[in-house]
Amino acid sequence: MSTIIIQHDDCLRHDPGPKHPESTQRVKAILGGLEGLKGLQRLPAPLATVEQITRVHPAEFWAGLRAQEPSRGLTALDPDTFLNHGSIDATLRASGSLCFAIDQILDDKALRAFCAVRPPGHHSEPELAMGFCLLNHVAIGAMHALVHPGISRVAIVDFDVHHGNGTQAVFEQNPDVMYVSSHQSPLYPGSGHIEETGCGNILNLPLSPGDGSEAFRKAWSSLGLPAMHSFEPDLILISAGFDAHQRDPLAQLELQDADYRWITEEICDLATDSCNGRVASILEGGYDMQALASAGRSHVEALTG
Ligand SMILES: [Zn+2]
Repeated sequence: MSTIIIQHDDCLRHDPGPKHPESTQRVKAILGGLEGLKGLQRLPAPLATVEQITRVHPAEFWAGLRAQEPSRGLTALDPDTFLNHGSIDATLRASGSLCFAIDQILDDKALRAFCAVRPPGHHSEPELAMGFCLLNHVAIGAMHALVHPGISRVAIVDFDVHHGNGTQAVFEQNPDVMYVSSHQSPLYPGSGHIEETGCGNILNLPLSPGDGSEAFRKAWSSLGLPAMHSFEPDLILISAGFDAHQRDPLAQLELQDADYRWITEEICDLATDSCNGRVASILEGGYDMQALASAGRSHVEALTG
């Protein structure tokens, strides 16, 4: 079975302004990095449905977010997070891409998927858009997966350099979802301490600036991956941010392309043991175009096996 790459040009319509690091160039860079890879099938992302969104975000929040989309210019939701005309369709395609990927995988039409979409999602809390994020796509995807018969436990791996406070907020009282995150600390958004364990389903692996490959791999191989193995997930989702890369301008975790290949291979091996190999990944952060292209390629090559 091929790995599916899910994308949509609507994701280029979200434009938080010329000086914002979360630019339209990001998905162009990551898709460009996949050129020439064999075994990929590209499919368009559908729009997420209201039913899918409101499993995570209250209907009032969603209506309020839509109402704030301007017909021209930018609406600032916070100093980092903006809406322009097109943002709502972009974020709907991004949430829809992961739900569609999960359907394809659970219908045995694909084994692995990577959603090359934006804006990112893991900072978005049920009632708060923040940190470049409008809707929390990986949370919406996990809740969508749990509706499928045969899926009773979903594990989310988040190797973005920032802690996914939104994803943690959605699931900290939901034992059907395990959330494991490695991230730089201290760094935005300030959460993700070891003591934050939810109902025993949250595992935070904070790393210090400059820690690099060895500390990253040790955290995952000694703590993160064994915890996921014990959880016995029926599906694994990845919040794939590439901003822990040494080239990234927003953080100092100094990872290399090979680290993204390594963690992806480890996740796929774990998936083979626990859930018939099923892994769906979605782009989160990553703000250096060359790193997005090369680390994204390493990630997707490892997904494809
Ligand atoms: Zn990030």
